Amino acid sequence: MKSNIKDLEKRVTDALGAVEYSDHPLHQILADLWDYNQDQWNRVEQMVRVSDAYQDMMLKREKTLGERFDKHIRQLEKITRISDRYQTALREANLELEHASLMDTLTGLPNRRKMLRLLKREFDHRPEQLKLAMIDIDYFKRINDEHGHLVGDEVLIAVGHLIEQSVGELGHVARWGGEEFLVVFSHSDQAEVEHCVESLVKIVKSAKFDVLDGQMIETSVSVGLAVYQPEDTIDSMITRADDALYGAKNSGRNRYHSSH
Ligand code: GH3
Ligand code: MG
Ligand code: MG
Repeated sequence: MKSNIKDLEKRVTDALGAVEYSDHPLHQILADLWDYNQDQWNRVEQMVRVSDAYQDMMLKREKTLGERFDKHIRQLEKITRISDRYQTALREANLELEHASLMDTLTGLPNRRKMLRLLKREFDHRPEQLKLAMIDIDYFKRINDEHGHLVGDEVLIAVGHLIEQSVGELGHVARWGGEEFLVVFSHSDQAEVEHCVESLVKIVKSAKFDVLDGQMIETSVSVGLAVYQPEDTIDSMITRADDALYGAKNSGRNRYHSSH
C-alpha cells in the first residue's frame, strides 16, 4: 500500500512537472489537490509528533512518580524500624524503672511498696494462712552514734541478709523502713513460723559483723508476730505486729512476742 502511494506521488509530481501538461485544464486542479494532500500529511505528522511527545512525557512522569513512591516506602520502613527499636528500648527502660521503684537500694531487698503489693495479693487469695513478723534492730541508734552512719548501713545490710537466709522458703522479706523489716509467711503453720522467728532472733544475736572500721559489731533484733484472725485487715495485722514488737522491746528486746 505504502509503495503504491509512493508510486502515485511520483506519478503526480512527474505530471505536475511535465511541461507538456502545463496547459492542460486539469493541471491546476491536480496541483490544488496535491497541495491539499500535502497539507493533510503535514497535519497527520504533526499530530503523531504531539502524541509521541505526550506519551513520552507520561512515561517519564510515571517513572518519577514510581521512584518517589519507592523512596517514600523506604523512608516509612526506616521510620518503622526506628520506632520499633525505640519502643523496645522504652519498654526495657520502663521495666527497669518499675524494678528499681520496688527495690530498696541499700539492702537490695524488696521495699515497702513491693511488700504491700505482695501482702494485698496474699490477703486476697488466702488470708487465713497469713502471718506477719515485724522485725526491728535493737539500739540501732547507738551503732550509728558510736561507729558512724556508714557502719550503721553495713550492719543494716548484714542483718537484712541474715533475716533472708533464716526465713528461706518460708516467707518473703522486705525492708519496711529505717531499721525495720517485715516478713510475710503465707504457707506455714504457726509452730513452724514461731520456730523460724525464734531461731532468727538467736542467729542475729550470735552473729559478729565485720564492718568497715575493722571492729566486730554485735547486735540483736526484736520481733512482733501477728497471726491472721477473722475480721483482720492488712492494716489491723500490721498494727498487731507493731504492738507485739513494742511488747518485745518493753520486756527486754532480743526476743519475739506474739500478738493476742
Ligand atoms: P530500739 O531498740 O528501741 O529500736 O532503739 P533504736 O535505737 O534502734 O531505735 P530508734 O528508732 O531510736 O533509732 C533508729 C535509728 O535508725 C535512727 C536512724 O538514724 C537509724 N536509721 C534509719 N535508717 C537508717 C539507714 O538507712 N542507715 C543508717 N545508718 N541508719 C538508719
Ligand atoms: Mg530499733
Ligand atoms: Mg525502729
